Amino acid sequence: MGARSGVVYLVGAGPGDPGLMTARSLALIASADTVFYDRLIPPTALDGARADAELVYVGKQPEPPAADGPRASISRTPEAHRPGSSVPQGETNERLIEAARAGKSVVRLKGGDPFVFGRGGEEGEALRAAGVEFEVVPGVTAGVAATAYAGIPVTHRDDASAVAFVTGHEDPEKDESALDWDALAGFPGTLVFYMGVKRLGENAAALIEGGRDPEEPAAAIERGTWPGQRAVVATLGTIAAAVEREAVKAPALIVVGAVAARREQLSWLERRPLHGRRVVVTRARAQASGLAATLRDLGAEVVELPAIRIEPLIDSEEVRRAIASIGEYALICITSPNGAHLLFDALAAAGEARWEDDPGIAALPLRRSNSAQGLRPDSPVLDGGEPSPPGLDARALAGATVAAIGPGTCRALAEHGIAADVVPERFVAEALVEALAGVEVEGRRVLVARAAEARDVLPDALRERGAEVDIVSLYETVREQPDAGAIEAAQGADYVTFTSSSTVTNLTAALGDRFPAGARIVSIGPVTSDTARAAGLTVDVEAERHDVEGLLEALLEDAAR
Ligand code: SAH
Repeated sequence: MGARSGVVYLVGAGPGDPGLMTARSLALIASADTVFYDRLIPPTALDGARADAELVYVGKQPEPPAADGPRASISRTPEAHRPGSSVPQGETNERLIEAARAGKSVVRLKGGDPFVFGRGGEEGEALRAAGVEFEVVPGVTAGVAATAYAGIPVTHRDDASAVAFVTGHEDPEKDESALDWDALAGFPGTLVFYMGVKRLGENAAALIEGGRDPEEPAAAIERGTWPGQRAVVATLGTIAAAVEREAVKAPALIVVGAVAARREQLSWLERRPLHGRRVVVTRARAQASGLAATLRDLGAEVVELPAIRIEPLIDSEEVRRAIASIGEYALICITSPNGAHLLFDALAAAGEARWEDDPGIAALPLRRSNSAQGLRPDSPVLDGGEPSPPGLDARALAGATVAAIGPGTCRALAEHGIAADVVPERFVAEALVEALAGVEVEGRRVLVARAAEARDVLPDALRERGAEVDIVSLYETVREQPDAGAIEAAQGADYVTFTSSSTVTNLTAALGDRFPAGARIVSIGPVTSDTARAAGLTVDVEAERHDVEGLLEALLEDAAR
C-alpha cells in the first residue's frame, strides 16, 4: 500500500547497497508527498520518488559534495535541499510534524535501521506527543550488513553465541559514559561498534583494561556494502594502529570477536568478477538501469554518464495515421525496446483520443480488464472509480506478422502481450532483412516503427521486394549533458561501454578532452565500433552478440584476462 496522507513513515534505507532496500521502503518512497532524508542513504534511494515529491535533506552533517560519498549519484537534484547545511534534531521533528499536519504523506528515510542508532525512537516520541500517526519500516542495519559483506558472521556456532551492538561515540555532551566498559569486556560474544573510528584507541584500551584479550581478532569495515568497501583485520591490541595506518574513515564499523578472523575463509565480495573495476554506462538514463544493476551485481563500480535521452514523438501526425490504419499492415517491424514500448503507448493514446471524442464509449469499460494482460491495478473493475479509457492494445496487431530486431525488443513486446514472429540471430538491420526473406511482402503494407535517426537498410530492402513501407519515428535521441560530478568520477574508469552509435557521438561531443583516457572501450557491435573509430577512439572489446547481454559477456571475458 502507498503512503497515507497525514502519516509519517520512519523508514530504514539499509546500509548503502540499493539492493538491500526493502520492498516496503521502495513502495513508500514511490508514493510519498515528502521525503526527508539523511546522508547515508543508497545512491539511488530517491530515484523512484514521485516527480512532484518534495525531497528534503535533514542530515546531521553537511551533505557531501556530489562526487564524494554515498549520495554521489542521486540523480534528481532535490528542490528543497540545502547542501552544506546540517539540520538539528529539534528542527527535523518540527518539520515532520508540520508536514504531516499539512496532510502530506511523509517518509523519513534513514540509513540502516531507523531504531538502531538512528534517533528514530526520538522522532517517534515527538510525533506521538504531537498526536501525529506514524509507522516504522525496519531496514537492514549496518551491524549485520557491512559485516556480512566483509565475510564476517556476527554469530558462529564455534565462536560467538551472542552479539552486542554498541555505540563507540556517545553524545559528547554527556558527562558520564553510559557504557560499563568492564561489563562490555566481559560480554560473551561479538561486539559491534557503530561510530567507533574516532575513539577506537580509547575504546580498545578500555576493553583490554576490563580484561578482554588483546590477541582477540578485530576488524574495521569501511563503507560496508558500498562500492569501494574496505575491511582491515587485526587484533584488539593492534586494530587502532591498523585503522590509522590504512586511514579508515567513517562510516565504518568495528568488530571485536573471534568471528573477525573468519573473513579469511568467508570473504566473497572481492571475488566477484568485476570487483574493483569502474565501468561507465552511457545509455539514456531510462534504459541504463538494467545494465548498471547487472554490472553492480558483478562487483563493478558504475558511473552513469548518460549521453542521450529518449524523446518520445508519438504525438505526431505520422504516428497517428499509422495507428489509425494499424490493422492494415501485413508486417510490423520494431527495431528497439523503446520502439516497442512507445508503439504501445501510441496505441493506448489512440484510445484516449477516441475517449475524448466520444464519452459514450464509457459503455465499454470492462474491455480492458478482460484483455490478455489480465486484471491491471488501474483497471476499472479493481478500483471501482472512473473507468479508464479503453486504449488500443495487443489485439490491434492480431493480423500482422511482428518482427523484432533482437531479444531485448522481443522481451519488451512480450511485456505487452506480443510474441514476435521473426527475430534474427544477429541483432542488426541487415540480419533482420535476411530473417524476413521468407515473409511475403510484395504489394503488402509494412510498418517500420523506429527511432528518428535510424539507418534506412531495412525499409530500403523491403521496398526493393515490392512492399509498401510506412516508416514512423516513435522517438528521437537527443544529447544529454552529463553532470560534472559524474564526469569527474568517470576519469578513473577501467571501461566505457557504448550500446549505440548515438551514445558514442553524443558522449564524445559532450566530454571533449574530458573523455576518460586509459579506459578500455567496449562496443555493442560493428556499427557502434565504426562510429567510435570515426570519433578517434580505439575499440578494445566488441561484443559478439549485439545486445546488452552480449556486451556484458564480452566485458567479463576481457576483465578475466
Ligand atoms: N541506523 C544506522 C546507523 C546509524 S549510526 C544503521 O542501522 O545502520 C552511523 C554509524 O553506522 C556509522 O558511524 C557507522 O559506524 C555505521 N554505518 C552505517 N552505515 C555503514 C556502512 N555502510 N558501513 C559501515 N558502517 C556503517
